[in-house]
Amino acid sequence: MPGKNLTRDEALTRAALVAVDHYDVVLDLTTSDTTFRTTTTVTFTGQEGGQTFVDLIAPSVEAITLNGEELDPATHFDGVRITLPRLAEHNTLTVDATAAYMNTGEGLHRFVDPVDDEVYLYSQFEVADCRRMFAVFEQPDLKATYAFTITAPAHWEVVSNAPTPEPTPVRDGVATWAFPTTQRMSCYITALVAGPYAVVRDEVQTRRGTVPLGIFCRRSMLEHLDADNVFDCTKRGFAFFENEFDCEYPFEKYDTLFTPEYNMGAMENAGAVTVNETYVFRAKVTEAIIERRALTLLHELAHMWFGDLVTMKWWNDLWLNESFAEWASTTCQSEATEWESAWTTFGISEKAWAYRQDQLSSTHPIVAPIRDLEDVEVNFDGITYAKGASVLKQLVAYVGREPFVAGLRAYFAKHAWGNTTLQDLLGELEQTSGRDLGTWSKLWLETAGVNTLRPVVETDDQGLISSAVIEQTSPAEHPTLRPHRLAVGLYSVEEGADGPVLVRTDRLELDVDGAQTTVTELVGRPVPDLLLVNDEDLAYAKIRLDARSLATALAHPRGFQDSLPRALVLGAAWDMTRDAEMSARDFVDLVLASLPGETNSTMLRTVLAQLSSAAHLYVAPQHRDETLATVTAGLRRLAEAAEPGSDAQLQLLTAYASVQRGGDDAAYLRGLFEGTTTLEGLAVDTEMRWTLLTALAAAGDATQAEVDAERERDNTATGRERAARALAAMPTAEAKAAAWHDGVEDTSLPNSVVEATGLGFTQANDPELLRPYVERYHEALLDIWESRTHAIAESILVTYYPTLIADQQLLDASQGWLDAHTDAPAGLVRLVAENRDGIARALRAQARDADA
Ligand SMILES: [Zn+2]
Repeated sequence: MPGKNLTRDEALTRAALVAVDHYDVVLDLTTSDTTFRTTTTVTFTGQEGGQTFVDLIAPSVEAITLNGEELDPATHFDGVRITLPRLAEHNTLTVDATAAYMNTGEGLHRFVDPVDDEVYLYSQFEVADCRRMFAVFEQPDLKATYAFTITAPAHWEVVSNAPTPEPTPVRDGVATWAFPTTQRMSCYITALVAGPYAVVRDEVQTRRGTVPLGIFCRRSMLEHLDADNVFDCTKRGFAFFENEFDCEYPFEKYDTLFTPEYNMGAMENAGAVTVNETYVFRAKVTEAIIERRALTLLHELAHMWFGDLVTMKWWNDLWLNESFAEWASTTCQSEATEWESAWTTFGISEKAWAYRQDQLSSTHPIVAPIRDLEDVEVNFDGITYAKGASVLKQLVAYVGREPFVAGLRAYFAKHAWGNTTLQDLLGELEQTSGRDLGTWSKLWLETAGVNTLRPVVETDDQGLISSAVIEQTSPAEHPTLRPHRLAVGLYSVEEGADGPVLVRTDRLELDVDGAQTTVTELVGRPVPDLLLVNDEDLAYAKIRLDARSLATALAHPRGFQDSLPRALVLGAAWDMTRDAEMSARDFVDLVLASLPGETNSTMLRTVLAQLSSAAHLYVAPQHRDETLATVTAGLRRLAEAAEPGSDAQLQLLTAYASVQRGGDDAAYLRGLFEGTTTLEGLAVDTEMRWTLLTALAAAGDATQAEVDAERERDNTATGRERAARALAAMPTAEAKAAAWHDGVEDTSLPNSVVEATGLGFTQANDPELLRPYVERYHEALLDIWESRTHAIAESILVTYYPTLIADQQLLDASQGWLDAHTDAPAGLVRLVAENRDGIARALRAQARDADA
C-alpha cells in the first residue's frame, strides 16, 4: 500500500501545513483477544482550507469527526491513512477505531504466557508503528503532548511514559488508568506496557531530585531477575550522563521493562525503556552477554537526552541518534563501570560488524538519503550503529574530548524538546573546537566503503629497514582515500616464562593519508618480527600483515600478552580470508591454535562464529569434511581442557555442539545430555539441555518425543522457541518441509518462534537437505514481502536463506532473481542482494582455499 510507506516529501509537506498540540488517546483493552478499541482526539493547528492526512493502520474505523463534522470512514479511510479535508486554523479531530493486537513485535504486541495463561502487552513503535495503536501524525518532527487513558484488567500493571496513576474501578475486575499529560515528544518514543508484570522499585538521586526507578518482567521470570545489577548500572549511567551533558534527566521517572517476543535489543521509549527479555538470564550466560546487557541499558539511557529530549527531524539522521548512543554508552561503560575495556569489546564486535556491512553491495554513506520509511527500516544496520560510532569516536579525538563535550552541552541547552539535523550538532562542535568540519564530514559521513592499509617493508642485507610505506587502497565502487590517525606497533619474539612471547618494543603514532605514506621513522631500524598497523585500534580500516609479520603471527598464535593486538591480528586474518588472500584452512588452523587459554569473552564469541563460517562456507568443498572434522575435534579438546565452570568452557562446548558431525560427537553430546558423561564444572541447566538436544536433533539422534518431553519440562515461552528450533533442525525432508510451512506459509506464529524455526531450518549437517528450497525461497520472496509486516519479512528472508549450500547454483538463483526483479521494492532487493553478496564472497574464498 503506497500510503503505508510515508515519503520524506510527504512528511515535509505535512510539517509545513500542521503543528500538533496534544493527543488524548483512550484505549479499551478488554474488548477481545485479537482487537482493542482506540479513540484518539488530537488538537492541531493547520492552514485554513488545506488538506492533509493522519496515519492509522487498523481493521476498521467506526467514526471520524473533524471540527464537529462527521467524515465517512468508507471514503476517508483506506486502511492506512485518514484523509482530512478542509482544515481550519485550529482543529480538533476524533477518530474512533478498532485496532489489532500484533504478534510480530510491531505496534501493540500481545503475548500469552504458557506458564500461567496471563496476557502481556508491550508496544514497539519505531520506525512507524505507533499508527497501529492510535491515529497519529506519524513523523518524528511533529512532536506533541499525550494523555493516555487505558481500560484493562484490574490486576494488571499499566506503564507508559508518564507516571502510572491510581486506577479507578469500572466494573468487576476491570479498571481505568487516566495518565497525566506527558512532556512534548515524538510519537515513536511513546509507549504502553500492560499486563500482570512483576515489578521491583528503587529510586535515584538526580539533578531534578529523586527519580523513581522500576524494573518490570513477567511474573514467571521474576525468580531469574537480578534487579540489583540492573539498578546499579542504571544509577551509574544517570550520574555519568547528567554530569557529562550538564543537563538534568528530562523525564519524571525511569522504568526498564523486560518484554517477551522482542525483535531487537531494546527501545528508548521516554521514561519507559523496553528491553529484550532474553536479558533476564534464566540460565548461565557468557560474560560477553552480561557485558552486552550493561551496554544496552546504558545505550537506551543515553537516548533519553540524545534522541528523546532532542530528536532528529527526519530518519536520515537515525545514524547520528544511534551512533551517539553507542559512543556515549561505551564511554560511560569504560569510565563508570567495571567494564574498563569496553572499547576493546567495541573494536572486536562492533567494528567487525561495520566492516562486514561496509563491504556489501548495499553499503551506503553514514549519512544516507532516506526517501521513505522502507529506506529507514532496512537501515538499522552495521553502518548506522557500528561504523557511525567508530567515526564519531574519531570525531571526538579530532575535535578533542573537552570541546566535544562543550559542544554537546550547548546543543542540549539550545535544542531541548526540539528537533535537529546533523548540521545543528556540527555547528556547535565547530564553535567549541574552532575546527572546520566540512571536509571531515564529506570524507567520513558522505562516502561509503572501507579502506585497506597494507605495510610494505624493504630491508637491506643487514636486516635493517631500507624503506617502509603504508599503502592505502579503496574498493573500485567507492574510490575514496581518507586520512587516518593511527599507531604502528613493533613487536619482537622474546623468551617468556612459558615459552616465546611477542613483546612490543616500540610504538609510532602517525597520520596516514593518500595512496602511499612513507614511515621515515622506521628506516634504518632492525626489521621487527611483527609490525602491527593500527595497533590500539584507533583507525577505521582493514589492515594487512606483511609476509614476515604473518609468519610470526602464525608461528606464535598465543604470543601477544594483551587481547587487543591478538584480536587485531585475528581480525586481519579474517579479512584476508574473506578477501581470498589467505586460505580458509589456514585461518581455521590459526584460530584453533589461538584459542587455548583465551579468556576475553567477546573475542571468543566473535572468533568462534568466524571459525564456523570459515569451515562451513569458505573452505573449498573438497576439503570441507576433513576441515569440519578438525574443527569439531579441536573444539571438543579445547572444551575438555578449559577451566571447569569457566566462560570459555561454556562457549567452547556450545560452539562444539553447533558444529557436531554426528557419530562420536553425537554419542558424547548424548552422554552429557543424559548425565552419563560429565564435564567438570559444566552446568547442564535449562539452556544447556536445549543446546545439547538441538545438536542431537540436527545429528538425527533425537526423536520428536524427546523434544516434546523437553518442552514439557521447560513449559515456557522460551521453551516453545527452543523446541521449534530443535524440531526444525532434524535432518529429514519432512522436518524441513514442516519448518518451511510453519515459518513461511503459516502466519499464526509469533516473531520469536518464526525466527527460532528459521534458525533450525538452516541448521543441517547435510546442506543438500536444503537444496529444494533454493528455488522455493526465491519464488516466495515477493509474496512474503507483500503479505507480511516488515519485521517478519526481514526475519524470514535472513533466517531461511539456505546459506549453507554456498555454491554456484545458489548464487545463480539469487542473481537471477535480482536480474528479473529490478523493479521490486528497494528494501526487498537490498536483502536479496546482501544474500547474494555473501555467497559470491564465499565462492571466491573457496577458490582461494582450493588453490592452497
Ligand atoms: Zn538506540
